[in-house]
Amino acid sequence: MAAQKTQAIVIRTFPLQEFHKIITFYTPDFGKIKAVAYGVKSPKSRLGGSLELLNYGTLLFQHRENRELQNITDFNLLDGFDAMRSDFTRITYGCYFAELVDSIASEGVSNPEIFDLLRTTYQFLEHADDVPLLARGFEIKFLDCAGYGPELSRCVHCSSTVKGTFVDEKSESTRKFGVAFSVRYGGVLCGDCENRDGAAFTIAPGSCELLKMLRKSEWDRFNRIRASTRNHKELKGVLGSFIEYHTERNLKSLRFIESVL
Ligand SMILES: [Zn+2]
Repeated sequence: MAAQKTQAIVIRTFPLQEFHKIITFYTPDFGKIKAVAYGVKSPKSRLGGSLELLNYGTLLFQHRENRELQNITDFNLLDGFDAMRSDFTRITYGCYFAELVDSIASEGVSNPEIFDLLRTTYQFLEHADDVPLLARGFEIKFLDCAGYGPELSRCVHCSSTVKGTFVDEKSESTRKFGVAFSVRYGGVLCGDCENRDGAAFTIAPGSCELLKMLRKSEWDRFNRIRASTRNHKELKGVLGSFIEYHTERNLKSLRFIESVL
């Protein structure tokens, strides 16, 4: 058993009996850590307020190899992202990002890129102009960090460069100009290969270009990016299906966003 210190963000909390909580942290050094916070719901607990969902701080814990639950020694709050927390839309999206990280990250596997992405996303979420667009940016960056990033430039079947093409729309029996995106194949298909996946999405070439831009843009440039209603709808559909395919989960917070916001 060794004392360890790491930065951490609370990505999930679960009540345990009357006074305790099981906390899931995401950390740069240890990946996902589950730990018991004993007595944290007691009014006398010095950790009480600091272990709220989405809080970012320095975690001290006793690391025991091959144990599902670790013991928390201390947690010093560094940022509670108050401006995000005071806005219903922003905190709801913040919970969705935490659930997404929780759904895909394995315990004990470190991925400092995912930690930095989550922390900087919460900082930027506090003053983002277009919160759903920020969410699409988080999704594509997160998929890249997790090793599931879709191919957006070359055909995933024949490797030719993909440009907009007339794609058959089965449901409408019309042809519309667009790019075929296959969730199953993991990216775009060219005009010759589009029929290989009957379930492929057709998105506007502009939506595909926007997705490339979201993938590479730093957060401080995001408030300059503009997206049309069509871009929003298409990217939400494509990324949502892609995430569902890789997490094999129906994310509760995403359903909540769809029904309430
Ligand atoms: Zn092709």
